[in-house]
Amino acid sequence: MALSPLVASYEHLILDLDGTVWIGGEPTPGAPEAVAALRDAGKRVAFVTNNSRLSAEEYVRELWAIGVQASAADVVTVGGAMQHLLAETRRGRTAFVIGTEAMHRHVRDAGLKLLNGTDLASRSEVVVLAGTDELTYEDLRVASLAARRGADLLATSRDPTFPRPDGPAPGTGAILAAVETASMREGAIVGKPQPRLLLTALDRLGDAPTLVVGDRLDADVAAANAVGLDAALVLTGTDPPSAEEVHDPEGPRTVAVAQNLAELVLQGG
Ligand SMILES: [Mg+2]
Repeated sequence: MALSPLVASYEHLILDLDGTVWIGGEPTPGAPEAVAALRDAGKRVAFVTNNSRLSAEEYVRELWAIGVQASAADVVTVGGAMQHLLAETRRGRTAFVIGTEAMHRHVRDAGLKLLNGTDLASRSEVVVLAGTDELTYEDLRVASLAARRGADLLATSRDPTFPRPDGPAPGTGAILAAVETASMREGAIVGKPQPRLLLTALDRLGDAPTLVVGDRLDADVAAANAVGLDAALVLTGTDPPSAEEVHDPEGPRTVAVAQNLAELVLQGG
């Protein structure tokens, strides 16, 4: 299938996963065909996600499961970006982590000592918050106490929700808000709209005209604007912005708005 003139004018595409390529494991309409058309046309594609529940290798398996070919080098998760930041700036420190096993591994691989489950957890030097389906009040208590005692408070994102087939589910931003409220501290963000995730993807793709495609103005489009890349918005997310927000001259700038990824990418799609 031929590409739309807009997409054909870029060499590289950075595609958001949740709400753009898929929603809760189901592809958005035509997404596998759209990615296949990009590859057939010789475009380089990277997938980025503010979700750190899975490792890059696990996301590759999920992509293949919906019919999208990808390798681990094509997938940049916020967990990978967090590991990169921690390895550069906090190697050797102690850490308490709220997140999945994949996130725990990223923090350990960055050279930090995990204190989860020990008596010293609330005295950790770094608190890392990421999305997880398994969260206890004790986790919030320990993270808040460590932050109150002066630990660096880092989170993968401030996303309030993430899309699930039956509706938006509380995201990392909701966990961060709980810890910030209890500790009276403000966390720092590694994922979108901060530039680190996109910069990691750009690092892998190399220098060429690049289009970022995502479903959130406040995350994907804002991050693209922050690093000087063009961005297109798709309306397949669970919290699509209103027409007013899309056209707000003070808000993040898009080069295109489409119903879904296939409509944006494919000629007459
Ligand atoms: Mg998204």
